[in-house]
Amino acid sequence: MKYISIVVPVYNEQENVALFYREICKHMETTGYLFELIFVDDGSRDDTARILKKLSQQDARVRTIILARNFGHQIALTCGLDHAGGDAVITMDGDMQHPPAMLPYLIKQWENGFEIVQTIRKDTQGVSWFKAFTSRLFYKTINAISNINIDEGGSDFRLLDRKAVDTFKNFKEKARFIRGIISAMGYKRIQIEFVAPERFAGKSKFSVRKMLNFALDGITAYSRLPLRLAFYMGLLSGLLSLLLTIDVVYTKWFTTEAVPGWATIAASVLLLGGLQLMGLGIIGEYIGRIFEEVKKRPLYWVQDELKSSVGVKAKTQDTVA
Ligand code: UDP
Ligand code: MG
Repeated sequence: MKYISIVVPVYNEQENVALFYREICKHMETTGYLFELIFVDDGSRDDTARILKKLSQQDARVRTIILARNFGHQIALTCGLDHAGGDAVITMDGDMQHPPAMLPYLIKQWENGFEIVQTIRKDTQGVSWFKAFTSRLFYKTINAISNINIDEGGSDFRLLDRKAVDTFKNFKEKARFIRGIISAMGYKRIQIEFVAPERFAGKSKFSVRKMLNFALDGITAYSRLPLRLAFYMGLLSGLLSLLLTIDVVYTKWFTTEAVPGWATIAASVLLLGGLQLMGLGIIGEYIGRIFEEVKKRPLYWVQDELKSSVGVKAKTQDTVA
């Protein structure tokens, strides 16, 4: 009998996990599928891990993987996908912004033969204009300068068929932008729209710095345009300086008003210096990323794991028998 894994990365979500767990059980039970709920605790410093341990002890369907420290949402999600055994795997946030009530609809589409069921956030309630604006700007930029197409409002709330999960596991990059990977993977896919409610409790774990890193990971992973931009800017400033030289020569030879010219020199030195530094910065950004990747360090390491998928398998056999 087929079963479904639900993967949830959580970081300091002590007020949310118990309600989230109840909601998942409620909605999954209506689908008739067996399921395992895998929480990946991303190095929480509050009571999250303790609550999750208790849930795992009470309910054989709940598995908890505790990471040794905070690795970030994308890595925690990857860890969950690595450990999930289901015929389909659903990934979602644990703060109720990805409504558990949507699960039956995702699963319906999977039954209809779709291998990736992607949700699209139409709107987020209570989000700041700053976050909404930067998010739109990011998607517009990445789609304009890369050769993949990521839907604006695309979230990491999606269902993946086993085939897609196995393909995903072959993507080994450290700086990972999962939306990009999934979008480049192909497979039969469908989109479902939803409105994300406000988080049930707690604050968003994405600081401006984390968001900026995430955006840079996405752009540098899927576009080499910034590198080329440095080249084009060099070309442009070369052309400009040629024009300037012609002008200087003309003024000297054919007019009597040869200027001292220090301003022109100062300005062009500044311009060129600035462009070179910018070019170096862009190259440095990519080299830094190459350095991170070639070290081939593990993506994450686990401190503790509670319950194996035996719970689901034992139950599966009971049901079959
Ligand atoms: N999260 C995580 N590690 C982090 C940051 C966030 O596992 O370093 C989890 C968080 O607990 C939540 C999900 O990722 O379940 C989405 O994070 P959040 O709700 O803070 O992001 P937002 O919805 O504001 O974009
Ligand atoms: Mg959230």
